[in-house]
Amino acid sequence: MSEPDTPSPIADAAGMAAPAPWGAPRPDAIYFDGASSRKRPVRVQSGDTLEIIEDAVRVAAWSYQDLRRHDGPVDVLRIGSLAAPPLARLEIRDPALQREILGRAPMLDRSTEASGTFRIIGWSLAAVASIVLIATFGVPLVAERLTPLVPLSFEKRVGAAADRQVRAIFGDRVCNQGGGPAAFAKMVDAVRRAGGIELELQTQVIASAVPNAFALPGGSVYLLSGLLQRAETPDEVAGVIAHEIGHVIHRDHVRRMIQTGGTSFLIGLLFGDITGSTAVIFATRTLIDSAYSREAENSADAFAVEAMHKLGRSPKPMGELLVRLTGADGKNSIFSSHPLSAERLAMMTREDRPVTGPDILSPAEWLALKTICGRNGSR
Ligand SMILES: [Zn+2]
Repeated sequence: MSEPDTPSPIADAAGMAAPAPWGAPRPDAIYFDGASSRKRPVRVQSGDTLEIIEDAVRVAAWSYQDLRRHDGPVDVLRIGSLAAPPLARLEIRDPALQREILGRAPMLDRSTEASGTFRIIGWSLAAVASIVLIATFGVPLVAERLTPLVPLSFEKRVGAAADRQVRAIFGDRVCNQGGGPAAFAKMVDAVRRAGGIELELQTQVIASAVPNAFALPGGSVYLLSGLLQRAETPDEVAGVIAHEIGHVIHRDHVRRMIQTGGTSFLIGLLFGDITGSTAVIFATRTLIDSAYSREAENSADAFAVEAMHKLGRSPKPMGELLVRLTGADGKNSIFSSHPLSAERLAMMTREDRPVTGPDILSPAEWLALKTICGRNGSR
């Protein structure tokens, strides 16, 4: 839907000095009723409300309180009304009339946040439509189509809610020893910049035997000490972090939320319940990074490979870490639905390059990170 912005055919009416008498052929304004694209020359009568008169018939009366300005050509005042159809517009070229309306419409330049209501209605309709679509076409296809339509702000709110869940679950197991937090932040920041990500990322290492790492939409990156203990070099960990950030950048979380939450996710969307059950499902699924599609895993790997290349480092160590964690066949592990580790190692070995960039962490920083949960690795 686009705003009508072609010049009005009666542009020469601009600058008219005195208002024409009733029924005069020269109009004050052009009216779009919001239902058709027809330009209707109208007269404007200013009383308690702004009356729109066509052929001596009042076709609309807009309260000054409800008037809102919309973008238009510089010499045209283009307004709508909160109470009118969303696309209804009145275009006024006459400077005197423009001044009068400007003086009487206090909320004219208030942002059309009132259209927040329309947005919510729009979303509700989308959610209902999606439920119908899912019933008809099945979840994966709909998730694929729907993901790009989910607003980033929504994703961030779910990310923040999931982050609170994670903190509630692991809050007392955050590792903070020595220079560890700074070292981890430095590593994540290097990956972030290599990946071309503007957003600042929060970082946390958690004491847990599970060898895993994950990132949340909105910018929290978590590393579990189980993975750290098995890692032998900073490059191995950096590659895994890059992979997880790749999932965030590709919005795989959203796609998976729609897939796993299915209609309940959409009903949550419908009723605005995004901080409750949805976040719990989301946080739980996120901690068990095992539900992404193979395609999603491959593209997260591709993101990681590219980030490591930008850093002048090889992605191969990451593949080696995966094999160490899961065995070559990747069975019996939290990575079980990831592509086979051997296959991934082969891909990352193909992408192996001589190191040209600086170390991601100095030996001292790496030691600090390794011992962030204490000397024995569990605090
Ligand atoms: Zn993954």
